[in-house]
Amino acid sequence: MIAVQCWDDGVQNDLKLADILRKYKAKACFNIDVGRHLRDCRRLLAEHNGQPIISLSMNEIKSLSVDFELASHSVTHPHLTTCSAERLKYELDSSKKMLEELSGREIRGFAYPFGEYNEETVEALRVSGYKYARTVKNASPSYPPRDPLEFHPNCHFLSRNFMEEFSKAVERNELFWFWGHSYEIESPEQWQDIENKIKMISEHPSAEWKFPSELFI
Ligand SMILES: [Zn+2]
Repeated sequence: MIAVQCWDDGVQNDLKLADILRKYKAKACFNIDVGRHLRDCRRLLAEHNGQPIISLSMNEIKSLSVDFELASHSVTHPHLTTCSAERLKYELDSSKKMLEELSGREIRGFAYPFGEYNEETVEALRVSGYKYARTVKNASPSYPPRDPLEFHPNCHFLSRNFMEEFSKAVERNELFWFWGHSYEIESPEQWQDIENKIKMISEHPSAEWKFPSELFI
């Protein structure tokens, strides 16, 4: 079976997570909202459970792109369904172009900010040349999707069904795709828990990590 993971927003904890991923040779994709990152320094984005959410610099994101895949999470993380057609095109085209320049690779994937989309956003993504777009809904099995531009993953990494979904995917030789934000990993116990999950998948004889774009040619 194939395991895929992706992490949204390009935040400080991604670097610590990336060290864990490298340790267990796990592939992953980071979904980046390019307009919310400064070139050389980090910035405060928001708070989560009273803790600051710090965005990575574009230079740090570039360093992530050496070992991992990047996908677009728009330019400014807007509510896409309320954007004008012109603004929508800017959010999709400019983020793709900027990440392609940053990483030197084609950007083929998208993650919907706030998980919001409609027919118009799906069509705009198609026109902009995206091959898949991840929602925040769950599906089991998750692959193949009815439309890759409305791709529902199996679960969030903190989902109670995580192990159940993984075991089901192993049994049925299906895709297991989870997602999240690394700022949701807060306590030492939660860091240990995600490390255990990554290690378990990496060492599972039937599991193989893939980058998302490898599924959508
Ligand atoms: Zn986001």
